Amino acid sequence: MSRIYNFSAGPAMLPAEVLARAGDEMLDWRGSGMSVMEMSHRGKEFMSIAAEAEADLRSLLAIPANYKVLFLQGGATLQFAQVPMNLLRGKGKADYVITGEWSKKAIKEAKNYCDAAVAASSEDRNFTYAPKTWNVRKDAAYVHYCSNETIGGVEYHEVPKAEIPLVADASSHFLSRPLDVAKFGLIYAGAQKNAGPAGLTIVIVRDDLIGQAAKGTPSVMDYKGQADADSMLNTPATYSMYIAGLVFKWIKHQGGLAAMEKQNIEKAKVLYDCLDSSQFFASPVAKEDRSRMNVPFTLKDKSLDDAFLKGAAQRDLTQLKGHRSVGGMRASIYNAMPIEGVRKLVSYMKEFESKHG
Ligand code: PMP
Repeated sequence: MSRIYNFSAGPAMLPAEVLARAGDEMLDWRGSGMSVMEMSHRGKEFMSIAAEAEADLRSLLAIPANYKVLFLQGGATLQFAQVPMNLLRGKGKADYVITGEWSKKAIKEAKNYCDAAVAASSEDRNFTYAPKTWNVRKDAAYVHYCSNETIGGVEYHEVPKAEIPLVADASSHFLSRPLDVAKFGLIYAGAQKNAGPAGLTIVIVRDDLIGQAAKGTPSVMDYKGQADADSMLNTPATYSMYIAGLVFKWIKHQGGLAAMEKQNIEKAKVLYDCLDSSQFFASPVAKEDRSRMNVPFTLKDKSLDDAFLKGAAQRDLTQLKGHRSVGGMRASIYNAMPIEGVRKLVSYMKEFESKHG
């Protein structure tokens, strides 16, 4: 089996052990005579898969009992609308912290539903840091931030304090580190980076915040309806949930989120040390807010970008092109990226620098 190192921002690499297990179980899931893809979501086999996935996620994050865990669809993008639809609770106001492309999209969508104001923004320095001082209106329904901006590579390493319910788009660093769920009103994440395949969105929400969805909210988008139906108000993304469940077990097997965090700190250090010691490559992000998951970097001479990418692909290092909105390079090094992949990238970068620097 030959596997490449894929630095995609998502869908991203999955642990090889998870894929191998899914392969073994493809035709016959544990003697059931069925593939998971063929199972009724109401059947006892799939119900047990879903229940185990939720229990494993709850134990990984130590999710308090007064939080609901929902396995939904529509991606984090749908949450940009679903959050205001459910959490405004008649208040008509919500605050947003703007740190890059994804939080910009979130507030744009929220403006369709309410008076959405900017509580803080890092636009003054081209979205290269995470503002810590927020101006939050006391009568706003919630304050929303993106705890890891996938495109800009800016991560909040501490959970900000908020007097009103705190909502996080944690898509691109979910399960990369421990998280104190009790500090949040709601956390959401598309699965396709650290948690599983595309098609699944995980929402963790405090139960007193649900049950007051705005009039006109489609029933499938009402958190309370989904919570009451164990996320099966409609047919859920069954296969994605199954794979996510295997990923949760894999993380447990690694030693849980504290162990995952340790690995991620080590991997990010290898790459940032290379950037910091180089005269040729540079990271645009403020040091204290650098993401452990998404590492954007630039070459001193932009005209060498294509040659860099071509050489990388020849070494099985793929998907390193930065997002079109920022250019340059970006290495996404999620949980399933082995440290060997990061080391191989760094040794290629050094080789490239010595040739062209
Ligand atoms: N938020 C963040 C932080 C993201 O990285 C992404 C996707 N890359 C999204 C939202 C949108 O997610 P989806 O494509 O699953 O809707």
